[in-house]
Amino acid sequence: MYRIYLKTSLAHYELTEKSRNSPKGLRFCNGLCQDFRAESKFSVHKNICKECRNLLGLAKKQIDDNKITLDQFKENPQIVNGLDIMIETKQVCKTCKQEHSMSSFEPKRRICKACRSIQTINRNNKDHETHIADIEKLKNNINDLKTFINHIPKDKLVLLISHFEVGRKSTDTKEKMVFNMVEHFKKLANPNSCLGGCGSMLEQQFSTCKKCERIEEKKITNNEISNLDFENNIEKFVSTLEILKKEEDIYNKKQIVMIARQLGLDPKQSIKKRRCYYYD
Ligand SMILES: [Zn+2]
Ligand SMILES: [Zn+2]
Ligand SMILES: [Zn+2]
Repeated sequence: MYRIYLKTSLAHYELTEKSRNSPKGLRFCNGLCQDFRAESKFSVHKNICKECRNLLGLAKKQIDDNKITLDQFKENPQIVNGLDIMIETKQVCKTCKQEHSMSSFEPKRRICKACRSIQTINRNNKDHETHIADIEKLKNNINDLKTFINHIPKDKLVLLISHFEVGRKSTDTKEKMVFNMVEHFKKLANPNSCLGGCGSMLEQQFSTCKKCERIEEKKITNNEISNLDFENNIEKFVSTLEILKKEEDIYNKKQIVMIARQLGLDPKQSIKKRRCYYYD
């Protein structure tokens, strides 16, 4: 079971879904990459690219030989190559706008491996050119654009997201991709609207309002905080609740339950009905 060696991996059903929607010529590596890689990087019928399989093989051997522990490997997979210092430097990919560890880039590249594979595929895809042309025609008509994008299959959408440099997470659902695409063109049409997507108009073009910035900061803090610390500081979190849009998930499920309890709500009910809405 390779999953025990990984900090994160997709469950079986998620992987099946991913594979079904992978753009032609690409596959999802469920190893350390957790992203798309060119098909040529895989052996037949494998869910993990050759590079990752190699690392996992080394890890298994070194763990069996008691040279390293499983936890050490999970924290820093490069330890199997004798690099016991963890490289923390990350780089933001020019195309997908995601921050990746340096191992996701070929030397001297500013575009991550996944995006580079996607670009290669784009070059020989005819539909892709037609889609681009149509999107260009529709881009000032947001409603029609949305309908059009909705009709594009997910695998093709991945390629378009990359072409327009919209930004992408390997875990994005089709719904999320459509949303991001539409938001992207809305922003281009309205350079003064807040980049955080709240809809407010700002004096400075392509900037983010204070509230959206604060929400983004909260998301990052909540991601890193332990449940215990969250519970200990619950009063502070409750006192700074904000009205959110539906797309935002700034608290995880456990945190939402804690907040609901603190507010004297029935957590079950509030999760179902008002999952992402909070009030000051
Ligand atoms: Zn891989
Ligand atoms: Zn990228
Ligand atoms: Zn905003």
